[in-house]
Amino acid sequence: MPELPEVETIRRGLEKYLVGKKITHIEIRDSKLFQGQTLHLKGAIVVDVRRFGKGLVFDLDNNYSIAAHIKMTGQFIYQEKNIINNLNLPTKHTRLIFKLDKDAQLFFNDIRRFGWVKIIKTSEVNKLSFFKELGPEPFKDLTYEYFQNMLKKSNSPTKALLMDQKKIGGVGNIYANDALNLAKIDPRRKAASLNMEMVKRLYHAVHEVLKRGLKFGGATETNYVNVLGQSGEYQNHFLVYGREGEKCYNCGGTIKKIRITGRGTYFCPKCQD
Ligand SMILES: [Zn+2]
Repeated sequence: MPELPEVETIRRGLEKYLVGKKITHIEIRDSKLFQGQTLHLKGAIVVDVRRFGKGLVFDLDNNYSIAAHIKMTGQFIYQEKNIINNLNLPTKHTRLIFKLDKDAQLFFNDIRRFGWVKIIKTSEVNKLSFFKELGPEPFKDLTYEYFQNMLKKSNSPTKALLMDQKKIGGVGNIYANDALNLAKIDPRRKAASLNMEMVKRLYHAVHEVLKRGLKFGGATETNYVNVLGQSGEYQNHFLVYGREGEKCYNCGGTIKKIRITGRGTYFCPKCQD
């Protein structure tokens, strides 16, 4: 599932190509994924693209916004005549097509159909339950004091806590695994049992792995692509995620796979404690 670096990569692409463009029409090919009145879109100009955790918001110049979540397999792909690719859009998984001026189009594809797009008033964006419940985010408002307190108050395994979107926005399975390896903390360790040094290392590591994810344009495991339809590269730089049986970069130990709250968890038993 896409996490902060993937969704931020998409956001940057949308910002680059969409801001200033006028929406001329929307073609709804699958109404399950769409809510709201299309009349608020016609003729509206995109003025900003914001990200809330793993969610996206396109603000329009008429006090309406398009809120969206790509969930597991959603893709926003932009096309215009100057951009050459071999994507053959639309595909059978194209759910929505935003027609834009200057012959540009934005396709929303989603194989598993868990994603959604909603047209709401811009003033109501913060009231959407998904966005309202979102915890503070790395690179935005996740302070060290908040992070320290959050850990201190929890008896959950540290990894489960890092992935709880209501506690921290944007960190999912890949980056939680890698951050814990970088910080040399056992993912099963109760959050409240981390000492001050560990908390500092983890705070730094969370930011560091997300930064690396962003630098490589996100990680593509299955369906994630940027707005030009290109895969990310972070999957070639995973620290422990998906590397069961391989060597740990910290210490040369062998990476093991277990499950924590149902999710595949990779760690090095030799250096993570
Ligand atoms: Zn190790």
